[in-house]
Amino acid sequence: MAKSKNLFFLKQSHQVIYGIILIVLIPIFIVFNTLRTVDLFRDNIDISLQRQAFSLARMFDSAIYQGADDIDDAQEKIDLIQQSNPSLDIFNIYIREGDEFKLVAGFDEASIGQTSNDLNYVISWHREDDSGTATIISKEGSDKRVQRFWELAVPLHNLEGDRDALLVLNMSLKVMDDLVADSLWDSGIFIVITLLVVVLLLILNTRLFEHAILFRKLKEVDKMKDEFISIASHELRTPITTIKGFLSMAQEGDYGQLNEAGEKGFKIMEASVNRLGNLVEDLLNVSRIEQNRLVIKPKPIDTKEILNSLADEFDLRIGQKGLQFKRSFDDDLPQIWVDEDKFRQVVINLLGNAVKYTKKGEIELIAKKESDNMLTVTVKDSGIGMSAEERKSLFEKFYRIQGEETRGIIGTGLGLWITKQIVELMGGQIFVDSIKHVGSQFYFTVPIYDSKIHKVEEKKENKK
Ligand code: ADP
Repeated sequence: MAKSKNLFFLKQSHQVIYGIILIVLIPIFIVFNTLRTVDLFRDNIDISLQRQAFSLARMFDSAIYQGADDIDDAQEKIDLIQQSNPSLDIFNIYIREGDEFKLVAGFDEASIGQTSNDLNYVISWHREDDSGTATIISKEGSDKRVQRFWELAVPLHNLEGDRDALLVLNMSLKVMDDLVADSLWDSGIFIVITLLVVVLLLILNTRLFEHAILFRKLKEVDKMKDEFISIASHELRTPITTIKGFLSMAQEGDYGQLNEAGEKGFKIMEASVNRLGNLVEDLLNVSRIEQNRLVIKPKPIDTKEILNSLADEFDLRIGQKGLQFKRSFDDDLPQIWVDEDKFRQVVINLLGNAVKYTKKGEIELIAKKESDNMLTVTVKDSGIGMSAEERKSLFEKFYRIQGEETRGIIGTGLGLWITKQIVELMGGQIFVDSIKHVGSQFYFTVPIYDSKIHKVEEKKENKK
């Protein structure tokens, strides 16, 4: 027991470890994947914006810029560029003066005249191939927030093709950075939702896991119960048979003449022992059916003959209760293909119930051909009847209707369950119609004997 408890805990902690791994790994994976994608995306966009900035600078150099001599014209063009390029923060033209660079035109006209000796400007100026420099810098943008910019320093040439100035431009990366920030925010939300879903799934999973264990345990208990019923019923059968034997010997006077009180006592004993016997038989049938041990051996049976003999058995009982008994059989009833004992048991159960649950009126046993291959047997009574609600679980094991009218009527609630199983094992179906306080009719179908189909089965059966 202690061992199984440990195992149970281990299984549960496995579940917990598995859960933790999921909770940790899934977000890590999502974060890693998002950052990698964003990085790739950012690199690509950075490069394409850098190319855009260079093309703008080169276009300015080759198609717009005339030379440092005509700086007023350059300033006019720069003003136009400023209006049509909101992502440009700086667009300055410097000329070389000694060791420094002097601003001669640009967006910010107030700064004209200022000098700078920025290293990038120097590098760019001295490069032989005119390729210029491009650096990403961070500084406060027009919205007062720190932004990233491509800063380009590209030499400019006059109409003769001589290098005579340096263009410095800052192109903002804000649009792209905002896009990245948005997608990171979206991924954050996605991670949180995913985490919630994972946690929810784990909680549900744990429940399912617990249910599965519980279900297995229940099945084990159910199996133990079945085995117990099966063994107990077998063990009870022998003493009951012995009691019945000695009881009938005593009633027949084998142990001396009984007085009136003795006879009465033995009659009560006989009824009780019969009840006990029936209960044990029912329980044995239940365990046989549940363990698939109930063997059905069908053979062709004369329907009218078997139904008449069953009705004869009930004639006295029904009459003693003051009820009418009617038999309504089709004239040309065909033979049926059933296990004789089991068929008898079904009809006895249904007729027995009809007698038990009918106080006045009549009981009718009906048999007619339903179709070419099925025959219907009906047991109809004018008894206490059942409501639709009461009928819902009628064919379930141990189900008994509890009410004023059924009080005091002895039963186990197993009869109809067994009856249904047997009918279905014989290839038929069972149904019920009933109206409360009016009566009930139980009807079931059984296969009609067909020599062409059933002969083969008979032969197979004989060979066995
Ligand atoms: P039992 O009769 O031993 O209780 P059954 O399985 O045969 O068990 O029947 C289940 C329940 O169905 C009965 O308890 C009874 O309430 C109801 N029942 C069965 N047959 C009839 C009938 N002919 N008329 C009214 N109620 C019935």
